[in-house]
Amino acid sequence: MFVERIVSNLLESNTFVVSNGEDAIVIDAGCSIEQVKNVVQGKHVLGVLLTHAHYDHALYAEIYAQEFGCKIYASSVSKEYLNDSAKNYGQLNIDKFDKFHFFSSDEKFQFGSINVEAFITPGHSKCGVCYLIDDVLFAGDLVFKKGIGRMDLYGGNKLQMLESLKRVLQINFKLLQSGHGEESSHEEQLRNLNSFIKFLSR
Ligand SMILES: [Zn+2]
Repeated sequence: MFVERIVSNLLESNTFVVSNGEDAIVIDAGCSIEQVKNVVQGKHVLGVLLTHAHYDHALYAEIYAQEFGCKIYASSVSKEYLNDSAKNYGQLNIDKFDKFHFFSSDEKFQFGSINVEAFITPGHSKCGVCYLIDDVLFAGDLVFKKGIGRMDLYGGNKLQMLESLKRVLQINFKLLQSGHGEESSHEEQLRNLNSFIKFLSR
């Protein structure tokens, strides 16, 4: 499996292209379609997966789905974000969801030779999802290399954040990729997660 990180012009959010041979998926959609196509290089993109529906992670999802002829996978709670700028914080206003495949509990997906495990992890937003592929966890804005996501935006919630951070600790990953900034190791995240679990438990 091969992971490439692309940085967007929208608050420098990360978009990831995960590939295995000719099979590929895209995680998040803040980068221009040109940026993504440059990395995809003719591989078959079989799905676009959203970690959450803030505009800097979801703005171009429909364009990707159109270009690659695939579905967009997201938490079912994303709907209320995708069609409301006050909740996604950008120019995102989707009211027809025919390109979407929504799910409301933990799920396993298979995209050709790429196996994905999805974990429902609210806290930064109501629609937060982490995706585990091999031993890499894509955590969106829930967890960063140093720190955790904001809880003061619409749908943010301290108790849900605490539960989701505990959940991440239980997941068997070696590398964590965040929605902004660089990757972190499991060891780095043990320190990071435990300090914020302690902080939020007070
Ligand atoms: Zn966010």
